[in-house]
Amino acid sequence: MPRPGKPAIWHPFTQHGLNEPIPEIARAEGASLYTTDGTRIIDAISSWWVTTHGHCHPRIAAAIADQATRLDQLILAGWTHRPALDLAEGLVDLFGLPHVFFSDSGSTAVEVALKMALGFWRNTGHGHRNRVIVMQHSYHGDTIGAMSVGERGVYNAAYAPLLFDVDTVPFPHAGAEGVTYAALEALCARADAACFIVEPLVLGAGGMLMYPPAVLAEMAAICARHGVLFIADEVMTGWGRTGTLLACEQAGVTPDILCLAKGITGGAMPLAVTLANAAVYDAHYAPDRSRTFYHSSSYTANPIACAAAVANLAVWREEPVRERIATLRARQADGAAMLATVPGIANVRQCGTILALDYVVDGAGYLSDLQPRLLAFFRERGVLIRPLGNTAYLMPPYGIGADDLARCHAALADAVALIAG
Ligand code: PMP
Repeated sequence: MPRPGKPAIWHPFTQHGLNEPIPEIARAEGASLYTTDGTRIIDAISSWWVTTHGHCHPRIAAAIADQATRLDQLILAGWTHRPALDLAEGLVDLFGLPHVFFSDSGSTAVEVALKMALGFWRNTGHGHRNRVIVMQHSYHGDTIGAMSVGERGVYNAAYAPLLFDVDTVPFPHAGAEGVTYAALEALCARADAACFIVEPLVLGAGGMLMYPPAVLAEMAAICARHGVLFIADEVMTGWGRTGTLLACEQAGVTPDILCLAKGITGGAMPLAVTLANAAVYDAHYAPDRSRTFYHSSSYTANPIACAAAVANLAVWREEPVRERIATLRARQADGAAMLATVPGIANVRQCGTILALDYVVDGAGYLSDLQPRLLAFFRERGVLIRPLGNTAYLMPPYGIGADDLARCHAALADAVALIAG
């Protein structure tokens, strides 16, 4: 197997097995990436589900440039700055949870959420509540704590026993939702249940598996009945991906703890937040300083990242983002209808702006050669699509043009020839 990329860069595992040379991207704009020789590539997955408004959005880029010349970094302990204050206020207004903890990646947002949930029970005299309930096929990040609450599989099996020994409820397949409810009910009823962490409506890295809002609402209700903390990991689904700002909105659910990252800055800077309700926050602080929340990191509320996120909030307020989402959603529905007729493609599914499908092929696990072969095929077609085993999906920037999206749909359809061959 050739070593992927230049030896100095240790690429994520998905590059493994790709033919050399790996194209070098020199610049980007909207849904377009340009290689060093000027070839245009359509970014059909928003460079890992991140650039919601497209690459290099002028308003966000300007905010970053401006902030970088004024205040680039500040320790937040005992000091604060305007971008963090404005951002926290904006997030609280939008999401209705009163406390905002800043970090720098989706995985860290999840780590922080788990620490908050376990800390809540310890600090309120219920330390025996220390088990985390998770959903089958879920993915919450690649740090050890986040891996612990994800599906045991290619991402984390090698690192067993990990940090937490979790309890898993089955994925709510259509027609079998009752099985999920019964399992969750039984686990929540246990004296040691601390929290349930879930990706609302779409399980991303676990295979773009989708379930309806009513199921999310019922799962949240079960947790509420038992006082089990409900953690929504909207790192992928947040910021409009499922058609609404949050996926939880569609179920009328307000989580106890909410994790956001990726689209929080419109894609331009690494930033994440964990929002918490008043009870979770209050449990961590005592006037006599006997309790606190032990989590600090160098880049918490980095001013440049916060300024990018404040600009993102302005884009949401002042640009027709919701209209772009509605247009993309309708075009994805047209594409899904076309793709559903293609032999060799199964389970075409859509949630808001996300379209996913499975190629019908035996033995196509994550580590089979299908994934790099598909990736290389799409690359040849000038489209950045990164499959998950035999699953491929589109999650483009909201403003992607009709022609570019049609090219993505056509590439997905044509890839069946590769599999047949
Ligand atoms: N949670 C979910 C639902 C995710 O999809 C991801 C990233 N794919 C993460 C957490 C981890 O985010 P990051 O890669 O920024 O650490």
